[in-house]
Amino acid sequence: MSHSSSLPLRCWAEINLAALERNLRLIRASLPPHMRYVAVVKADAYGHGLHHIAGRLMHAGADLFAVANVTEATALRELGPGWPILILSPLLPGEEVALVDSDFAATVSSAEEVLRFEAAAAAAGRTISVHVKIDTGMGRTGVWHEEAPGLFTRLAAAPHLRLAGVFTHFASPDDDPAFTAEQRRRFLAALERVPGLPLGQIFVHADNSAGLESLPGASAFNAVRVGLLQFGILPHPHSMLAQVRTEPVFSFHTRVALVKRLPAGTSISYGRTHVLRRDTTVAILSAGYADGLPRAASNRGQVLIRGQRCPVLGRITMDQTVVDVTEVPGVAGGDEVILVGRQNGQEISLTEFSRAADSIPWETLTSVTKRVPRLYKTALGT
Ligand SMILES: *Cc1c(COP(=O)(O)O)cnc(C)c1O
Repeated sequence: MSHSSSLPLRCWAEINLAALERNLRLIRASLPPHMRYVAVVKADAYGHGLHHIAGRLMHAGADLFAVANVTEATALRELGPGWPILILSPLLPGEEVALVDSDFAATVSSAEEVLRFEAAAAAAGRTISVHVKIDTGMGRTGVWHEEAPGLFTRLAAAPHLRLAGVFTHFASPDDDPAFTAEQRRRFLAALERVPGLPLGQIFVHADNSAGLESLPGASAFNAVRVGLLQFGILPHPHSMLAQVRTEPVFSFHTRVALVKRLPAGTSISYGRTHVLRRDTTVAILSAGYADGLPRAASNRGQVLIRGQRCPVLGRITMDQTVVDVTEVPGVAGGDEVILVGRQNGQEISLTEFSRAADSIPWETLTSVTKRVPRLYKTALGT
């Protein structure tokens, strides 16, 4: 978004690219050296901004990029000609021409896709790279694991398709280690039933951020697909990955626009869901749900002003949010407000912010709207 630099920002996100780069290096260092790193940058790099994030990850040594769809893949291709790009979601009929034109790797889950991609590649006289996805219990994309060998047979009969990887996706890596282990077992068992798979020469991947906690030592896996963790967010609060010491890349900021005193008994905002129990000093913040403050955090969320926690009063509205600053001396218009991040030694983590809205960090990050400028901090060592 364009913004006149002489004006104060009303609501903005700060993206610490140096932290991103440190995070990638720390994650890599915590993995066995042969593990390749698939950087998941779908949904505009989880709302951080694809351009800056992918550029930094290329610099920091990602091996492969994964995106959701053809549009995202095309944007990434313009940034980094030559980088391998995997499209994770199934392609709609007609989208396969982009695979040929732009050299994207596609995910294959079905015989129908093999035929469609083979036809597109043959028509262009080119080769398309594919990663076969195996459904080991996620129940979403992928060929059901018991039927995987048949799909590999079809693939072997498609001369214009080149097998570049095999993968699966975990359903509950953060809270069901037994089922995750079962998914690994099904995946490896399916691969064993396919004679002559060149596992050492292709990407063999299953682990997303939470999966890393249970990554087995010696096995066929030779790559990981990391999204959330590279942004310094743990996949769940008690994650053992805290040892990796990644730092948050994203912080979320707004400002106090107005301070006023209201008498006890006044109701606050739409629906009158909060009634002041005492005479109260309130601050009106210059951000609301149209910026990405979830309405579900009404009457529940907290923000930091002058290093102190201030509760949200009443409903969050489109452009404005009311908080209680009675206990915070000296609050004035223009004061910076932390929605997610640190201030004077206090912190509201993305996880806390998400929980206040009955949400998850992935959804919170991808719900910050385009009204919110992203400010990029680039220097290493800050
Ligand atoms: C989004 C996604 C990932 C990344 O997951 P994180 O939990 O953010 O690390 C990995 N694999 C697939 C298939 C995905 O869709």
